[in-house]
Parts: sequence; C-alpha cells; structure tokens
Amino acid sequence: MKGRVKKILVISSGGDAPGMNAAIRAVVRTAIHHGLEPMGTEQGFCGLLSKQIFPLNVDSVANIIQRGGTILKTGRCIPFQDATVRKQCGEFLKSQQIDGMVILGGDGSFRGATKFTDETGIPVIGIPCTIDNDITGTDYCIGFDTARNTALDAIDKIRDTALSLDRNFIIEVMGRSTGHIAVDVGIAGGAEFILIPEFPISPETLVEKLKHPRRTKLASIIVAAEANRPGSSIELAHTIKELSEIEYKVCILGHTQRGGSPTTHDRKVASMMGTAAIEALREHRGKSMTAMQNHHIAIVPFPDPKNATRYFQDESLLTLNEILCGT
Ligand code: ADP
Repeated sequence: MKGRVKKILVISSGGDAPGMNAAIRAVVRTAIHHGLEPMGTEQGFCGLLSKQIFPLNVDSVANIIQRGGTILKTGRCIPFQDATVRKQCGEFLKSQQIDGMVILGGDGSFRGATKFTDETGIPVIGIPCTIDNDITGTDYCIGFDTARNTALDAIDKIRDTALSLDRNFIIEVMGRSTGHIAVDVGIAGGAEFILIPEFPISPETLVEKLKHPRRTKLASIIVAAEANRPGSSIELAHTIKELSEIEYKVCILGHTQRGGSPTTHDRKVASMMGTAAIEALREHRGKSMTAMQNHHIAIVPFPDPKNATRYFQDESLLTLNEILCGT
C-alpha cells in the first residue's frame, strides 16, 4: 500500500488567469485541513530549478480570494523542456520529501507535468486555468468568466461612443486559437458579426454581408478572436475599407482581459477545483487534472498533447447571432 501523502507543493505556471489565487487558497487550506504540509514556489517550474520552495500556511493565503493574478507568480520556463533538468527538479523535490504536486496552468504546463510525473514518479494534479477556456477534457477553465465579463464591459463602453459618432468598430478579444470568448461576448454584447478561427469567413463574404441592401446600421460592432495573430483586426479593417469603403475603427482589448478581480463563478470553481485536487492526491491519483463535466467536478487524465485544445464547436450559436443582429 502506498504511504499517506504528507507534503505537497503548489505552483502556478504558464499564462496567468483570474481565479488562480482562489485556487491556491483552496489547495493550501484543504491540505492543512487534512493534516498535509503545503509548500509553494514562485514562477512555475522555474521555482523548482532555483530550488526556492517555502511553507504556506492558513495566513499565507488570507485576503487573496478576490485578487487577480497569482501570489505565486507564474512563468514560462524553457529549461524545463530538457529531461535532465526535469530529473534534477524531481531529485530536489524528493530531497525535500515532497510527495505530491498541484499545478495551476494551461495545456503547456500540463505537458510539462505529464513528462515530470512519468519520469520522476511524483504524482501531479493539474487545475485548468486559462481565460481561453480551451483545454480538452474540461467544460470550464478558471479565468474564463472573469475575462468574458471584462471584455463585455469594454464592448458596452465602446458601443456608447460608436453610437454617438456613428462609427463602426472591430473589437479584438483574446482566444489564442479558439473563439470561446468571442462567441460569448459577441452574443452578449450584441455584435453584428463574430469572427472566430473555427468557422472562418473571408473578408469578401463579410463585406457582402455588410453591404446587404437591408442593412441600415450606421454604427456596428464586429467581435473578432485574435486567432493566433494578435492585432490582425487592423489588417481586416484595411481590407474591409479597400473592398467596400466602409470604415472600421479597431480596439484590441489585449491583456486587460487577463487581469482583474475574479467573478463569483471563477472564485467558486477555483475553490471547488482546489479542494478536489488535494482530495485526488490523498487518493494517490496523479497525472490527472480537475475538470468541470456537466456541472460537476471530476478528475480526468491530462489531455493528450496531440489533442489538447478544445475548439469551439456549436455553430448554431453563430447562426443565432446572425438572426439576432437584425441585419
Ligand atoms: P500554459 O500552461 O499556459 O499553456 P505554456 O505553454 O507557456 O503555458 O507552458 C508553461 C510551461 O510549461 C513552459 O514554460 C514549460 O516550462 C512547460 N512546458 C510546456 N510544454 C512543455 C513540454 N513539451 N515539455 C516540458 N515542459 C513543457
């Protein structure tokens, strides 16, 4: 029988997301509740490399549930791609009697964690955190709700100025290779068109729609996902102008979407996932992540690296939006 898990390490890695702090709080306090010793490190896997780990207690995570970002900082750690470096990190953790790890991050962090646990035998449980909400195996990733509310707030504000001056806007939202944010805020923000990489439309088709004879709008909003090319909406605005003479201003929301106080939903899911991660380690599970499946928290294997991205699939929502935008 495997021994009882006694000392665990929590890290945040890769892109930051609002709600990470709420998850760290839940991990630490659930661990303490069960008599485990929680430790932390800063800047993701880089903290293992620099051998800087420190104890966390109930007070270390006081007053953080409402804060964006992550108190443990996060980071992209290129050397961790090297197996020799991962081996050294594993040896270091074993020398510190760490017998379980919780990692908050995205699919990249989970790729690293999968290799790490395979090579060192140290069990790792992931908590999916990314505003893009695009990790295979979970319906929800921490940070998404906060990001879409931030984006929606910006869209509402832009609408005020757009209407006052009869201006058209393309608002570019985040979503590295997926359209989850764009679809939600496009519908909720009353966008005329939603452009996402999963269901691309050519500028020519877009312009055809914009020049539809029934279309009378003097001010309208297109919501576009950045789709691997942040800033590409500027180019799109030029193309639309060339093809149609219709002028679009561009507003790129960028990193504002990554910050801010997490919403109720993000804090609640983060709390549930943080607790579930510790329960999973106590049950000797590893190489897995917490997931939201049909509104319940589950523990599922880390995503297959070849199929780690969960793309937006529900085309009917785009059709719905075309109907509602009332061309
Ligand atoms: P995210 O977790 O948000 O997707 P990244 O893709 O930047 O962010 O990954 C975060 C970190 O995870 C990387 O800096 C690296 O340390 C580690 N990592 C990512 N991919 C791998 C890999 N294939 N092998 C080992 N480590 C990896």
